[in-house]
Amino acid sequence: MNVNDSRMLVLKDIRIRLQDRLLFAPLNLTVHPGEVVTVMGPSGCGKSTLLNYICGILPPAFEARGSVRLGGRELTGLPLEQRRIGILFQDILLFPHLSVAENLAFGLRAGHSRQTRRFRVETALQDAGLEGLGGRDPATLSAGQQARAALMRTLLAEPEALLLDEPFSKLDTELRARIRTFVFEHARQRRLPTLLVTHDPADATDAAGPAIVLDRAPALSDGNPTAAAADPENPKTAPPPVPTAPRRP
Ligand code: ADP
Ligand code: MG
Repeated sequence: MNVNDSRMLVLKDIRIRLQDRLLFAPLNLTVHPGEVVTVMGPSGCGKSTLLNYICGILPPAFEARGSVRLGGRELTGLPLEQRRIGILFQDILLFPHLSVAENLAFGLRAGHSRQTRRFRVETALQDAGLEGLGGRDPATLSAGQQARAALMRTLLAEPEALLLDEPFSKLDTELRARIRTFVFEHARQRRLPTLLVTHDPADATDAAGPAIVLDRAPALSDGNPTAAAADPENPKTAPPPVPTAPRRP
């Protein structure tokens, strides 16, 4: 195990059932630090459910098996708050009754002094190009500013992995491109293993990592096969059969 390995997100043999039906074929996946793996698949195939399972918030209607490891820790059985996973959804959930700065401070872990809290929040506002806007009501921010504030709040919690559930899908094309670059840059800077659920091939291209398609027989799409290659137990990772020359009759 090298130094990087200790910060990987490793999903092993994940099977999620809904009323006796497997949502997708057993999933094995390794996400390396700073890598963004794209998860695609038709609506209803279980993408959000997979992210819920990884965070430990699977609704009781589902039955799941399989192991989730992060930074060498086994997460299975741990509550959400002990997993150290950051998640961003399609809907930006900034608290309407708190200022922008208070929203960011909400992300901070307990135990920091008041001065440190203020410093961290100010730095995050600057990082997000929101300096001077800390006192604002979040509803007065533009969609792009809200998206950046939501990412900062997530990152202030110092997660060890990032899950993105179609977080750009409500933004128009130009803003979408800018925000996803912003999110990926921050994920890479912090060396966070990141899973991105999206329907947009442009998101996947920009993520520049491996892509998987969730369906009854998940297959690795083309692109960088790192995630697959890193997991010797995944049958999908077995080297392809060497093509043989067709025989002449
Ligand atoms: P995706 O994100 O890929 O569109 P979901 O993970 O949201 O799909 O849903 C997977 C399946 O689980 C769907 O058939 C959906 O209807 C069902 N489902 C989602 N949430 C619940 C729930 N809380 N209780 C029961 N079934 C659910
Ligand atoms: Mg979904």
